[in-house]
Order: sequence, then C-alpha cells, then structure tokens
Amino acid sequence: MAIMITEECINCGACEPECPNTAIYEGGVNWELTGKSYGDGDAAPSGATGFYSSEFFYIVPDKCTECKGFHDEPQCAAVCPVDCCIPDPKHVETEEQLDYLTRNHIRFLQGYFFYKPLPFKELVKVLLSKPKVKIRVE
Ligand code: SF4
Ligand code: SF4
Repeated sequence: MAIMITEECINCGACEPECPNTAIYEGGVNWELTGKSYGDGDAAPSGATGFYSSEFFYIVPDKCTECKGFHDEPQCAAVCPVDCCIPDPKHVETEEQLDYLTRNHIRFLQGYFFYKPLPFKELVKVLLSKPKVKIRVE
C-alpha cells in the first residue's frame, strides 16, 4: 500500500511536512531509509523502482503506510491543493495483505503494471479503445 504523486504536482511543498513517515521528498533530493541514502535509479529494498522524480515531489513506497497508525486518511492527499496524491497502482496490498507479507518477510510486493483492476466488460472497452490492440472475446 502506498500513495504516489502524479506529474500534476505544482511543487507547493504542502504535503512533505504532513507525512508521519518522512516518505515524501522534493524532486531531485535523495531519499533515506535506515541510515542509507538512495538517489535517481536506485531500487528500494522492496525492489520498487520508478518512483523517484527530479521534477516534482515524490513518495518512497517502502516508507508510505497510507498514514495507517497515524491518521484516518492519507495526509498528503488531504492537504494537496491539486489532488495529485493518488493510490500507487504498483503497491495495492490491503492492510491485511501487507501485514501477512511483512510477517513472512516477503519484501517483493504485488502490484499491477498495465492497468488498474477492472471488471471484464470494462477491460474489453479499454482494450478496444486502443487502436493497436487486437483482442478476441470468446
Ligand atoms: S499517505 Fe501518509 S505516509 Fe504515505 S506519503 Fe502520504 S502522508 Fe506520508
Ligand atoms: S501538496 Fe500536492 S502539489 Fe503540493 S507538493 Fe505535495 S503533491 Fe505536489
């Protein structure tokens, strides 16, 4: 589970001080975890990649708990003036799933890399809207 910041971010900085996990960093700034510093191109200990941004604020998925244990809702999303803090589609575990995975020392977390989960009919609609995709429905 994690929130991500989209490229609609206007770099206002309102979210960063609200994060109880220090999971939010300004674009281009290295991030830290357990005393180690990471930068552009570095994978997180969980294997997560692609979250770093040199242009706008970004969230480190290994550090974001969606504010569980601190607040009732993600604080970054609550204060963001342009609503660009959204659930990260690469880190979609429920709290129970995340707890199970963590207890069993499983650090490669699930996600969906092509599109968000959809009912079958909606998935077909999305696929048909892509001109280069050919599908056969049986
Ligand atoms: S959801 Fe909470 S823990 Fe995650 S980045 Fe936003 S403020 Fe930080
Ligand atoms: S509050 Fe929203 S617009 Fe402002 S820096 Fe954070 S993500 Fe970007």
